Amino acid sequence: MQDDKLKKVVALCKRRGFVYPGSDLYGGFANTYSYGPMGVELKRNIKNLFWSLFVDQRDDMVGLDGPILLHPKTWEASGHVAGFNDALIDCKSCKARLRVDHLLEACLHMETEGLSLEELGSLAERKEVVCPKCGKHDWTQPRHFNLMFSTHISKTSQGQDDAVYLRPETAQAIFLDFKNVIDTMRVQVPFGIAQIGKAFRNEITPGNFLFRQIEFEQMEIEYFIHPSTWETNFESWMNEMKRFCHLIGLSEAGLSFFEHPQEKLSHYSKRTVDVMYQFPFGRSELFGLAYRTDFDLKQHEKHSGQKLSYLDPKTNERFVPHVLEPTFGVDRALLAMLCEAYDEETLENGEIRTVLRFNPLMAPIKVAVFPLMKKEQLTDIAQHLYKNLRRRFKTDYDESGAIGKRYRRHDEIGTPLCITVDYQTLEDQTVTVRHRDSMQQSRVHLDELSRYIDQHLHSEL
Ligand code: ATP
Repeated sequence: MQDDKLKKVVALCKRRGFVYPGSDLYGGFANTYSYGPMGVELKRNIKNLFWSLFVDQRDDMVGLDGPILLHPKTWEASGHVAGFNDALIDCKSCKARLRVDHLLEACLHMETEGLSLEELGSLAERKEVVCPKCGKHDWTQPRHFNLMFSTHISKTSQGQDDAVYLRPETAQAIFLDFKNVIDTMRVQVPFGIAQIGKAFRNEITPGNFLFRQIEFEQMEIEYFIHPSTWETNFESWMNEMKRFCHLIGLSEAGLSFFEHPQEKLSHYSKRTVDVMYQFPFGRSELFGLAYRTDFDLKQHEKHSGQKLSYLDPKTNERFVPHVLEPTFGVDRALLAMLCEAYDEETLENGEIRTVLRFNPLMAPIKVAVFPLMKKEQLTDIAQHLYKNLRRRFKTDYDESGAIGKRYRRHDEIGTPLCITVDYQTLEDQTVTVRHRDSMQQSRVHLDELSRYIDQHLHSEL
């Protein structure tokens, strides 16, 4: 049933212009996707909400847009060259390549984090560990595989190595510009830097639609603090992340929080909590919050030879700030929103209505304007109304087909309000406003419409 839901969401995404398979024209290019006209709007709404909440509405945050290609030393300092690996294993029979941890979790129902390659290899020898593709038990030894994509730039006269990596996370660009920000902006610890951008990972087993891609988008924050305050700051960022989940329309029932056990934390982290979401394919990581201590800044000090300390103007204490890292995946947020919003409702006449019940503020289109019929006296008013409304709200105009069909089309993309200009409009300047969720209709005067829409969009927060 739940798998079925994912299939339905995928089909709707293609049918209604949310998401297309990448390079569709050439038969697709595995695990890449294009966001279509509706998907782009939804994505922009997610990113705009993030920026508004965490940058615009706070005094202690600034933004950054760093490059995708960073100096190769960055990834040595961060530990990605040596340690950003997945252990993979090949099925000798059908040549399927799989992540060993996922395979063992599925077959042996056990956690494998922190185990060595040898330990993973001997677990894979158990007879119950069979290939999910062909059902055979015939494995190679597990090997490590680095997840960073590398590319080349033409050699420079400075004799730099020409191999560079596409960033596997946006966070490191923030550490590289930490000094520039404190030298040029009037920021004082505690403060944070936010960034939104693409990241690339050569994932071994991508899949589950948008959940695990090789190219995706992150919204990350590095929040610089004095180490003595990490616990309270951790709590307050956790609350901010919950608020964000609520505002994008995720219900509490679908969310849970996974506290990484102390003994399994990355060497630089003192506490990590994953925000988990109940996707149709199972409970999986949506976002994460990590206390990364001063690991990154200290590593970049060491590898660059530059001081990255901060002098507190109030206490005169000089220290390397510690960081909290709230990280959000745009694509996973979008997928969770689609899964949460998708609904099928059987109407009185037996017809099934498919509707995306987005939080109105996140919906790709906020209002649709229809003339009841394609008659000039109605289309003139509807066009005029449409041009007025679209200055304030993302608005669509639709005059083709029966009204019922137009409603269904907008239900499927989650438009909260549909407005119809009809013959009564000619008499009393009122229009019909139809609500997506209740399907109820009310008449509103043209002069009142903007305020009415505004109230509705904000009422369900
Ligand atoms: P996972 O354990 O699922 O591989 P991760 O712990 O490696 O994820 P992070 O490194 O914490 O992920 O990345 C931060 C966020 O970026 C994740 O919470 C997720 O929302 C998003 N993300 C990570 N990898 C992918 C991917 N391959 N495709 C889409 N989004 C991703």
